[in-house]
Amino acid sequence: MYQVTTTLHFCYGHRLLRYRGKCRDLHGHNGVAEIELSAEELDALGMVKDFTTIKQAIQGWIDAQLDHKMILCKDDPVLPALRQLQEPVFVVEQNPTAEHLAKLICEEVKRLGFPVTSVRLWETASSCAVYRPA
Ligand SMILES: [Zn+2]
Repeated sequence: MYQVTTTLHFCYGHRLLRYRGKCRDLHGHNGVAEIELSAEELDALGMVKDFTTIKQAIQGWIDAQLDHKMILCKDDPVLPALRQLQEPVFVVEQNPTAEHLAKLICEEVKRLGFPVTSVRLWETASSCAVYRPA
């Protein structure tokens, strides 16, 4: 089994509903997503996937959808105000925790056609969540 990991950086804002800690208020993170791809066999060039191809495809999606956006739960009461002000938001079904964001990115990487085996999302330098597709 071969594995490659590419690391992508993006900034995002969020807050957690029904939560009592600091993350209950609107705030931001400098997030780091580590995308792990795996393959039993290498391609003709001797790669799992070309890093340039991975970065272009996945960073492109992250830049367009998540970077410098407020990522908020669909039930967040601040959403109508932000929409009225035409602020960029990315709306998710559940609380935008690191766990859910890791899953969101993993599912998008899979949809883009990459053999993803895990996404590790670092919310801070010392805290990360990992999602592995079943
Ligand atoms: Zn937070």
